[in-house]
Amino acid sequence: MNRAEIIHWLRTSDEAALESLWQEADAVRRREVGDAVHLRGLIEVSNRCVQQCAYCGIRAGNRTISRYTLRLEEILASVALAQQFGYGSVVLQAGETPQGLPTEWVAEVIQEIRRQAPEIAITLSLGERGEKAFETWRLAGANRYLLRMESSNPTLFRKLHPQHPGWEFRLAALKQLQKIGYEVGSGVMIGVPGETWDDLAADIEMFRSLELDMVGVGPFLPHPQTPMGTEKPTFNDELTTLKTIALTRLLCPGVNIPSTTALAAIDRESGHERGLSRGANVIMPNVTPPSYRQLYEIYPSKANTSEAAETFDRKLKERIWAMGRTVGTGRGNAKRKPS
Ligand code: SAH
Repeated sequence: MNRAEIIHWLRTSDEAALESLWQEADAVRRREVGDAVHLRGLIEVSNRCVQQCAYCGIRAGNRTISRYTLRLEEILASVALAQQFGYGSVVLQAGETPQGLPTEWVAEVIQEIRRQAPEIAITLSLGERGEKAFETWRLAGANRYLLRMESSNPTLFRKLHPQHPGWEFRLAALKQLQKIGYEVGSGVMIGVPGETWDDLAADIEMFRSLELDMVGVGPFLPHPQTPMGTEKPTFNDELTTLKTIALTRLLCPGVNIPSTTALAAIDRESGHERGLSRGANVIMPNVTPPSYRQLYEIYPSKANTSEAAETFDRKLKERIWAMGRTVGTGRGNAKRKPS
């Protein structure tokens, strides 16, 4: 599929044609990664941040939220929940503060998790922290790293990250992570102000050329306490998100694709299911201690901020089974690319 064909799919509203796209994406998903839906326990480790990402509610410039960092025991309790639910992986996600989250402290946390949960895959989503930190954490026992490129268009990337040295550094970080031996995930927000269809099509092509292990996409959700919160989003809707998931499945057949929380936030009823039936095979339930969740407000009204992890887990598994899918066991590693 070339750029023009991807754009054609992104723009079409022909329901019969779209039905064929959904079916093909679902068939490729089944053939390549099977019916298992892998669950990853998301732990929102800290909302402290020195970055000024123009879209993100926990950016340093937002002085209206109180800041927290979980203690080691709180992180380990979250990991214990994920273990209790049988999740194959935990994801440590945070704002970016090298001082607040020192490299050595994170390494210690990783080692403690590894001790408590020898089988679990440890995924990090801690932003760009430099090759040294990436290496230290890999040696400490981390397996995967999620770092969204946010856009493949360097000009749009600069608008999203006014203080960042530039898109090529984000790309270099992704390459470093791959070289160090992480399974690497990336992705974009969909429909940020100023984004074009051509940009989104180029993002999807770049998922393929980067040979990623995981691709996460979700709608851009304006946050009022951010510079981008008042600009008009372009196509941050559910249909465009589902098309992007389906097209990603076709272009990158073996990757792990989450049906994201942002998608569930715009369709609380069935966003997770819709994503799963159009190419996705992963969900990342939140196992952060409930009292901290509303402080990790990267966008407003995040789905599942108040529901206890136990309730969410039980309902989620019932919904997965009701779709005729199964709950993944084991780590749910990315399918190895043919060498
Ligand atoms: N500091 C880490 C983790 C950020 S949160 C990092 O930057 O990698 C994880 C993802 O949430 C981000 O990569 C971004 O794509 C998404 N996100 C942040 N703000 C958002 C918003 N307003 N709407 C939708 N997604 C958002």
